Amino acid sequence: MAAAKRGRVVPVFILSRDQEEPGRNLGGASKWWLNQSLGHLEQALESLGSRLILRSGSPLEELETLCSEVGADGLVWHRGYEPQELILEKRVEERFRGELEIVKAYPGRLLIEPSELRNQSGGPFKVFTPFWKRCIQGLSPSAPLGRPANLESPSRWPKSERLSDWSLGPSIPWDAGMKEQWTPGESGAREQLKVLWGERLLNYSEERNRPDHAGTSRLSPYLHFGEISPRQVWAGLSRFARQKGIPEPVWKGWQFVSEIGWREFAAYLLYHFPDTEREPLRQEFTRFPWDNERTHLRAWKKGLTGYPIVDAGMRELWHLGWMHNRVRMIVASFLVKHLLIPWQDGADWFWDTLVDADLASNTLGWQWTAGCGADAAPYFRIFNPITQGEKFDPEGDYVRRWVPEIAGLPNKFLNRPWEAPPEVLDAAKLRLGLDYPNPVVDHREARQRALAGYEQMRRT
Ligand code: FAD
Repeated sequence: MAAAKRGRVVPVFILSRDQEEPGRNLGGASKWWLNQSLGHLEQALESLGSRLILRSGSPLEELETLCSEVGADGLVWHRGYEPQELILEKRVEERFRGELEIVKAYPGRLLIEPSELRNQSGGPFKVFTPFWKRCIQGLSPSAPLGRPANLESPSRWPKSERLSDWSLGPSIPWDAGMKEQWTPGESGAREQLKVLWGERLLNYSEERNRPDHAGTSRLSPYLHFGEISPRQVWAGLSRFARQKGIPEPVWKGWQFVSEIGWREFAAYLLYHFPDTEREPLRQEFTRFPWDNERTHLRAWKKGLTGYPIVDAGMRELWHLGWMHNRVRMIVASFLVKHLLIPWQDGADWFWDTLVDADLASNTLGWQWTAGCGADAAPYFRIFNPITQGEKFDPEGDYVRRWVPEIAGLPNKFLNRPWEAPPEVLDAAKLRLGLDYPNPVVDHREARQRALAGYEQMRRT
């Protein structure tokens, strides 16, 4: 909008292929999403009489070339908060300030600017509750700007690369489930948001822990890719609450609102502690005696650990590029505590397979589960994958959907197939160890091993 107000606009997306640039490459599922998302953006811009110029390479060099090609007098973009984005933005500002009339980043991805918030002693918050309490009191983000009616074109369009030449799609067809589940792009985001305004939101706090129900918003990839902004979600919330006559202090306390707060907190933490992408925030965890058995890591990735709720989650992830939050916590805890595999390995797999892979939220989620992050779950709180499955998927619908080979088991044994007597296994047509694996580790032993590892870390 800022660009549109100034006059002629050249919308640009640069796919970074900068070898010197620190940071990560996009994961496979993110590439899949980006591919569709850019296609939608191209169409949306065309409907405004404009185009999307695609370039790849070093972002700074590409911007230099483009600015001189079109004779740009200004450069505006949405501000990023990840370490790599901050470095790049600083370079862009240093390079173009003074040369162009306007070089400016606008906020849009977050509700709260991480640089503007400190705790009472002047340091960054490390605990969610006081962070969110402080934010939420006066939080009243300005209304989102509408889309411009049209965009003025430059006198001559610069050359654009072709999206299809970027090969962002999968080289083997593993995306059938994702195609069925998701409609990337702004209109897909709007549709997804519409689903929230009603029972989904009103029942959110009871339903959000049930992976067998569609009880959460499934907005995460749209929020990550900027196809919907947190300000739009906020505006929708406040409109919905007004229509229902729900006072502001009440809806601001809703569980859903605080989940939006966790997203803010994740970005805030990564901004203030940029090393936490790889390093535990609590330094003592660098001494943790990991076991690091690679066959266990493979079994976990493939959903073949022998623990049904874990395997269901890992298969959901592979199929849809998404996993329910409760199950993310269970599978992450299982990897880190039952299998003693470093959380960074789990974060890498999520990074590659999640359509909502987000550096800040993924880092927070893994460090929280591993017990080494800000406001983390205490290490000794070890999720029991059997009782978690029984509690949060009581009818077994979720496990039966994703682990069909054990679907014939009665609920009593669904999360503990190894306890089923032979006649029950026969009736379920299940040969344990052949059709479905025996558990890779024994729950009780694994729990003891994890606690011993924790004690060892504390002693050294
Ligand atoms: P809803 O429950 O509807 O919540 C609404 C929005 O709030 C979400 O879309 C998301 O933007 C935000 N949100 C909710 N919970 C969290 C949370 N715990 N942390 C940060 N933001 C949250 N989320 C990601 O977006 N990307 C990730 O890469 C990611 N990795 C995770 C890794 C682990 C190990 C764990 C435990 C959690 C991770 N999460 C991640 C957080 C959370 O699981 C997802 O945001 C959520 O499941 C998305 O589903 P939803 O949109 O239906 O969420």
